[in-house]
Amino acid sequence: MTTSASNYDIVLLDIEGTTTPISFVHEALFPYVAHSVGEFLETKWTDPEVQTHVQAIAQQANEDVKDGIGSAIAIDLDADSSDEIRRKVLANVDWQMKADRKIGALKGLQGYMWRFGFESGTLKGEMYPDAVQAIERWVKAGKRVFIYSSGSVEAQKLIFGYSEHGDLLRYISGHYDTKVGPKTEDSSYKGIAKDIGVQPTRILFVSDNILEIQAADMAGLQTVVSIRPGNAPIKEDCKFQMTTDFMTIPL
Ligand SMILES: [Mg+2]
Repeated sequence: MTTSASNYDIVLLDIEGTTTPISFVHEALFPYVAHSVGEFLETKWTDPEVQTHVQAIAQQANEDVKDGIGSAIAIDLDADSSDEIRRKVLANVDWQMKADRKIGALKGLQGYMWRFGFESGTLKGEMYPDAVQAIERWVKAGKRVFIYSSGSVEAQKLIFGYSEHGDLLRYISGHYDTKVGPKTEDSSYKGIAKDIGVQPTRILFVSDNILEIQAADMAGLQTVVSIRPGNAPIKEDCKFQMTTDFMTIPL
């Protein structure tokens, strides 16, 4: 499959299902947190950064209880004992991870734990080889490559900084997460174009998610749909360009 994308200065890449197998997130990153969060909280409980994440999770849990969301359990940071707080934090993390909840408090703790996993060499960012080759080729051709993922900027930097192909951060000009807005809203892509300082039409966005592609298209970006093993199937009448190999995307 080839695409007709051309005349762009900026490449904006999604991660899951695009540069990296969706399975990496669900079979490596999330299980790492799920399996080690209990031990992690126990051994690092007094770490001030851990306590910052505990406070954020408690605040979120208390809001969730008020809003009747999920299996949220209220946490009273003043009245509960340390053990109670830790047990309730674990219970809240557990249901939120099972629900694949993308929320700031959870992402903060996950990101902090992933930093340890990557820095210790337990975790390495999995990349499709053609994505790595294409990123190198784009940068050599004078284009700038940015990342836009629902994973936090910190997690993005770990995946690219500690990848199986070495440190790829030197190729990446910047990172966006959902702080700029949801990936399915055109205003987010306009915001990114404005932040980079280019017209939306000068950006080529690559993602496996058709709702994201539609939003980027509405904002005026060029788009290519990433077709990878394990991605959600794309409807046959899809009007967007698609590729299975990023090296086929014209420079
Ligand atoms: Mg994706």
